[in-house]
Amino acid sequence: MAKLNENYLNIKQSYLFSEIAKRVNDFCAENPDKKVIRLGIGDVTLPLGSLVIDALHSAVDEMGKAETFKGYGPEQGYDFLRNGIKDYYSRNGVELEADEIFVSDGAKSDTGNFTDMFSVDNTVLVPDPVYPVYVDTNTMNGRKIIYMDGTAENGFLPMPDDSVKADVIYLCSPNNPTGAVYNKEQLKAWVDYANKNDAVILFDSAYECFVSEPGLPRSIFQIEGAKTCAVEFCSLSKTAGFTGTRCGYTVVPKAIVKKTSDGRTLSLNQMWNRRQTTKFNGVPYIIQRGAAKVFTEEGMLEAKGMIDTYRKNAKLISDTMDELGVKYTGGINSPYIWFECPFNMYSWDFFDKMLKEIQVVGTPGAGFGKNGDNYFRLTSFNNYENTKEAMERFKTLFK
Ligand SMILES: *Cc1c(COP(=O)(O)O)cnc(C)c1O
Repeated sequence: MAKLNENYLNIKQSYLFSEIAKRVNDFCAENPDKKVIRLGIGDVTLPLGSLVIDALHSAVDEMGKAETFKGYGPEQGYDFLRNGIKDYYSRNGVELEADEIFVSDGAKSDTGNFTDMFSVDNTVLVPDPVYPVYVDTNTMNGRKIIYMDGTAENGFLPMPDDSVKADVIYLCSPNNPTGAVYNKEQLKAWVDYANKNDAVILFDSAYECFVSEPGLPRSIFQIEGAKTCAVEFCSLSKTAGFTGTRCGYTVVPKAIVKKTSDGRTLSLNQMWNRRQTTKFNGVPYIIQRGAAKVFTEEGMLEAKGMIDTYRKNAKLISDTMDELGVKYTGGINSPYIWFECPFNMYSWDFFDKMLKEIQVVGTPGAGFGKNGDNYFRLTSFNNYENTKEAMERFKTLFK
């Protein structure tokens, strides 16, 4: 008899977005005349930039000519893209080697697939609230997960605790769902903890391009010592609107080398290379040409224009919270605004109140972990007019 992976029985069913959809659909069916504004979207809404589109078009044409047609490409990504990413890091003060960069179809698959690199008997440390992928993928492998609390007291930025022994640590900054960002001193404390405990940090920087305050790190490799303990996952999804186009990259420094139980050594970079060449056949050439455009200076300007649009919406939301005296994190260096539910409400009750009274949809914090029970997430991925109207309506809750 084929025995199935029973760890799947331990994964909590994620009812979050289906439950939200159900409540919204029920409301719309009963109130067809009411206009619902969705600020729960975790997906970009602006189309791809015209420079990216041009690059995609020319790559399509190349595929149609015998002289320029491409079949299988390198599993790790074409050199033109790996070098483009390398130069992008270099402009931000981080020197990498091109073969430390692995191009992929996105950060979600890479963060999940990276669990292949670790033995099941590691202890995994995950923040709460959290992006559910880290928890679910480790649960699928049967790994022990411990949590660190993100709370109003620590600004939703849990810090290392020397009494806690963790082997693999997930950090996401700017954070989804809280929008909180670690500063350099805080990240240095994590890097020091990891180096001291021989741990590995899996750093999700999918929102790095939203960092606007000077001095805040956009990459963990801006922190001294990170190259011996950290792997960085990044994506063009939020940077350049690639959620449907699919392209990301993971940086695995060659300096992460661990001893095996029998005294030999394993290089994480070589292992990931082996894993990818075995289980992955690379990102489509066409997509990589579009992605490479993003890393040029003009491409970055185009992407920045899109980010600025979302940023304006985020400012509208955070200004409204300031005006109403609602406590929040995020908004400045993140597309997310994470706030304490007003009127001491539980997040699902506040969700229902918003839907029924003002027809604005957000995401209840309870969906991201126990520390989210009394919190709520709004996103800036709608257009300016809708965001403005939603905030006018939001204010009426306080009248
Ligand atoms: C959106 C997002 C990503 C990006 O995932 P892709 O698979 O590259 O689209 C990664 N991490 C977090 C926390 C996200 O919110």
